[in-house]
Amino acid sequence: MSAVTPSPSALRTVEEQLGDVLAAVRPLASVTLALEDAVGRTLRAPLRAALDIPVFDNSAMDGFAVRFADVAAATGDAPAVLRVVADLPAGTSDDPRLGAGETARIMTGSPVPADADAIVPFEDTAGGLADSLHTARVLRAPAGPGVFVRRAGDDVHAGDVLLEEGIALGPLQIAAAAAAGVAAATVSARPRVAIVSTGSELAPVGAPLRRGQIPESNGVLLAGLAAAAGAEVVARLSVDDEGAALRDAVAALLAASVDAVVFSGGVSAGAFEVVRTELSGAMTFSRVAMQPGKPQGFGMLPTPSGAALLFGLPGNPVSAAVSFEVFVRPALRAMQGSRTLHRPLLLLPAGAPWRTPEGRRQYLPAVVDTGADGTWTVRPATAGGSGSHLAGGLGRARALAVVPAEVVEVRAGDPVAVMLLEGWDA
Ligand code: AMP
Ligand code: MG
Repeated sequence: MSAVTPSPSALRTVEEQLGDVLAAVRPLASVTLALEDAVGRTLRAPLRAALDIPVFDNSAMDGFAVRFADVAAATGDAPAVLRVVADLPAGTSDDPRLGAGETARIMTGSPVPADADAIVPFEDTAGGLADSLHTARVLRAPAGPGVFVRRAGDDVHAGDVLLEEGIALGPLQIAAAAAAGVAAATVSARPRVAIVSTGSELAPVGAPLRRGQIPESNGVLLAGLAAAAGAEVVARLSVDDEGAALRDAVAALLAASVDAVVFSGGVSAGAFEVVRTELSGAMTFSRVAMQPGKPQGFGMLPTPSGAALLFGLPGNPVSAAVSFEVFVRPALRAMQGSRTLHRPLLLLPAGAPWRTPEGRRQYLPAVVDTGADGTWTVRPATAGGSGSHLAGGLGRARALAVVPAEVVEVRAGDPVAVMLLEGWDA
């Protein structure tokens, strides 16, 4: 008899683990919010325009609203001379009648009179803006009817789907909705997430440390990542490895109907793995073919309003950050009904060589450099390579380089898949 040493193939793939996670996700409720409160939320129903964009036919230039026929033959030698009968500043509701030989001075964005069918900019007149209230001398004919008239509905028609379900509402999308006369949006509720750090060695950030203690840094890490993924962090706590504090915390969080609990630490195969010991009924603990982040726990427990997803991430800060990115962020986005669960992967040449583990997909904290010719390259953020305890290197990382399991070495110049992280350009 000999102890079974699991081969690398005994590990689960990232896709298998993620498949279990996503299969457990239930979309959260939708809420209708005023636009300004909906920034950052995921849209849960197609947003239709209430107005045309542009709202009405309006001028694209400062100049004169004309009847094209009056100016069709205008040249520098034979200007068309028009009588200015109205002045149309932005916001005016006037719609002056224009007879033959008549024009209205008009500013950009003002409504084009129903009788006009082209705009002559000041640049194409003899007097320009300076002499524009009595007579307009047009020196150049517009190319045709409709020139410099922005037609109502050219961009969007009332009733059109302006924004698709499942997209994130950023400032640009909010502005488009506002321009289309929409004041509120149906968006996802935010996942209510609790962050629970485990470890008897953990001391509050900034507290003096006795021998054996380290600052508890995963709490701020995971709370920040959760918030960036759209969650509301409703609790952040740190418990020791004894078990009682963890049990009490879990009971209170479930009673409060959190949607997810993100634990860090206490999931691997050591002696005091408190998450593993206390939650082995509710969670499955697996070994996933990735580096860092091999030990993973995942499960669910009922709450008064549904169920809470339970994520057991390894405690090393780099492992916790990577595990969040790979498993928790997609789940939080799926809960919100997002149509893009994953970050896009860019292929960038490696700017330096590095080694990668055989049989495990590598997620390496990385830096993206811009060369003198504008070419991007990717290199490890940590001088020490992939060590998952190198929390300081996390501060330099702006991306994750993702190297397939079968690759054992990245050479300078090799194309590497890279995901840019939040704030990658900061
Ligand atoms: P564990 O997964 O509990 O075995 O922890 C792995 C390593 O990560 C240990 O060196 C821990 O001290 C460290 N660690 C665990 N939790 C945290 C935390 N919240 N903040 C900083 N380091 C941690
Ligand atoms: Mg621990």
